[in-house]
Amino acid sequence: MTEENKNDHVTIKIPIELVNEIDKRVGTHGYRSRAEITKQALREFMEKNPLPKIEKSLPHFEHLNMDATGVKIIDRQLKRVANIIINPKGMHCDICDKHQCAHIDFALTVPDIQEEIRKKRIEGWQLPNT
Ligand SMILES: [Zn+2]
Repeated sequence: MTEENKNDHVTIKIPIELVNEIDKRVGTHGYRSRAEITKQALREFMEKNPLPKIEKSLPHFEHLNMDATGVKIIDRQLKRVANIIINPKGMHCDICDKHQCAHIDFALTVPDIQEEIRKKRIEGWQLPNT
């Protein structure tokens, strides 16, 4: 039960027993008023009871790593890791068993992979333009 006040404060009704307990503590531990104790108690309550975090949805694809043979892309929808082989003949995805798929399309958007592919294209590897 609250009543709105004109200067951004509200009045909250608290059982008298609790107020008596608060009053006993006014003048102790450096607290000078009911309001000070109540505010401190509420701050501690907020700290102990944080608002639930809004869960951010994780991206569908994520670049896991890159080595001499190719790159790994996490597919969270399939809950699998796509191993994309990169060699002089092109790119190949082991999940899709294809040279062109969503995993390869995603891999081609990752700056580190783009850079590697550009280098290999200069060496004559048959890779997509990035
Ligand atoms: Zn694929």
